[in-house]
Amino acid sequence: MLRSALLAAARSTNVRRIVESNPLTGPVVDRYVAGTTALDAVAATRALAARGMRTTLDHLGEDTLDAGRAADTVNAYRAVLGSLGDAGLADRAEVSVKLSAVGQSLPVDGEKIALDNARLICEAAAAAGTTVTLDMEDHTTTDSTLGILRDLRVDFPWVGAVLQAYLRRTEQDCRDLATAGSRVRLCKGAYAEPASVAFAERSEVDRSYVRCLRVLLEGAGYPMVATHDPRMIEIALDLAARAGRSAEGFEFQMLYGIRPDEQERLAAEGHRLRVYVAYGDQWYGYFMRRLAERPANLAFFARSLLGR
Ligand code: FAD
Repeated sequence: MLRSALLAAARSTNVRRIVESNPLTGPVVDRYVAGTTALDAVAATRALAARGMRTTLDHLGEDTLDAGRAADTVNAYRAVLGSLGDAGLADRAEVSVKLSAVGQSLPVDGEKIALDNARLICEAAAAAGTTVTLDMEDHTTTDSTLGILRDLRVDFPWVGAVLQAYLRRTEQDCRDLATAGSRVRLCKGAYAEPASVAFAERSEVDRSYVRCLRVLLEGAGYPMVATHDPRMIEIALDLAARAGRSAEGFEFQMLYGIRPDEQERLAAEGHRLRVYVAYGDQWYGYFMRRLAERPANLAFFARSLLGR
């Protein structure tokens, strides 16, 4: 119930206005968002690299209905990729892109514009010497996003995709993508989805996550295990060992600000650990999804708004 209400609020302009205009929101947002500028994102990468971790940088923004704004997002990615190259950090960081931020939701030619824009970001990533992963948004975009992935991979075979274990289709998508050279990030899924396409119970989502993990870890691609769930992490380690994968053969991924001690522990044990670093001023939708993931976060947020 609470999760659905928060996810609905994540797409409400009225709630957005209220939350964004409250000055007390800032410190809570800072827990999940690394700053507003490319320099902040590069500084976060430098700090995490010093502790043996990699990053994937997300310039915040989504659902744009303005082609000019989509072009601004492309420029923001080019700038941060250039800064990573200049700072000598391109081997420690890549970027994550939401196609709805670069045009996918535009009413006319959205898919083509998103593909062209994503291509520009891939060119900048190639020039910097790093990679791009396409985030996955709600289920109405899955086919379009996987289609754009296929097109991009013709010229940039290292482009990665995200698959969401809560979708009923995902086990098959994992099979389709568990091929040589493919990079797949497996997460549970963060959007409000109908039962016709998604598992509703947490236990069903977890079981699907394990089935998908098995397909990816036993397959020929490079799995990126995106979860903070201790049980899923243990199972991934076990399945990876059984599949004969070395520490370089897969990686764990976690969100900036969530379970940082566990991030340090896994990295210190020699596992590849990449932190998803969100930055920018369009934090609202991202922040609300983080609140929805853990009800305790809402109480913490409410207390901070009340100044207690
Ligand atoms: P859960 O069972 O939700 O959480 C396990 C434990 O982790 C919780 O008990 C708690 O201790 C901790 N935890 C989880 N979330 C929070 C939080 N917000 N605040 C504090 N503690 C928390 N989703 C998409 O739909 N599309 C994407 O492209 C996408 N990309 C992602 C990239 C990365 C690197 C990661 C880590 C997640 C991504 N997600 C994405 C979000 C994902 O789908 C889940 O919503 C999120 O990771 C929570 O699921 P979990 O696997 O951590 O398990």
